[in-house]
Amino acid sequence: MENAMQLDLKGRSALVTGGSRGIGRAITLALARQGVNVVTCYRRESEAVESLAREARVLGNVELVQADVSREEEVVRLLEKCRERLGRLDIVVNNAGAISHVPLSDLTQTEWHRMLDTNLTSVFLVIREALPLLSDGASVINVGSSVATRGMAAGAHYTASKAGLIGLTRSLCKELGPRGIRVNTLAPGIIETDMVSRLTPEQRKKYEAMSAVGRLGQADDIAGAVLYLASDLSRFVSGVTLEVNGGI
Ligand code: NDP
Repeated sequence: MENAMQLDLKGRSALVTGGSRGIGRAITLALARQGVNVVTCYRRESEAVESLAREARVLGNVELVQADVSREEEVVRLLEKCRERLGRLDIVVNNAGAISHVPLSDLTQTEWHRMLDTNLTSVFLVIREALPLLSDGASVINVGSSVATRGMAAGAHYTASKAGLIGLTRSLCKELGPRGIRVNTLAPGIIETDMVSRLTPEQRKKYEAMSAVGRLGQADDIAGAVLYLASDLSRFVSGVTLEVNGGI
């Protein structure tokens, strides 16, 4: 029992989607530094991928795979790679996602589907394809958003996709719970990544003031919460939405 009170992730296996930039990159590196063997994916080649690949070579326990998680055949290929490299999965972090700001009057069905496919359908596909690899007692972490339950003007499609994750998490925690598999949603507030790089100085001030701790979040703030949810420290936590937003 005493052992369970330590992070102790060494030797576990993880898939982190969308690890090339931002929050996913911080999660990938945090897990790898704890001795977890990680497969991560990204959608397109970029300088960010090359820079992560350089860090991965130093760490020695991170594998990068190009795969668009909104496409079923690419998810199948990604999980096949996980099977080859890792044999099993103890941790799955569904982090890959995209944001879009479009008022309802201009929102096309194509853009609606793009958001749902990228942020919600991808998570269904990854967990379904991961099922045969998930170890009993595995932890699945779905990265949602604080705005899912608060709403965001010009973001009906984004918030709908993130709110959908909460229902998916609640159902899968019940369905997979008998195998000891925990499924949780982690809902970040505003985190300084490329996704929010277009904030004006005024917006920035406003968001800083909204947070009880007076600042925007950093990607490592989310990685810390992932380490907790991935480890046995959270062994009785399942089906929750953990808000990590500095107290908005
Ligand atoms: P970034 O835009 O900085 O990074 C997104 C990452 O996801 C990139 O690695 C990107 O790869 C990858 N990705 C996007 N779409 C796909 C896809 N279809 N298939 C595979 N990989 C994909 O985002 P953040 O780090 O800011 O966000 C990470 C998660 O956190 C998202 O789910 C987001 O909705 C959520 N979130 C973020 C908040 C914030 O304030 N930043 C607030 C609340 C939630 P590539 O480089 O190839 O595009």
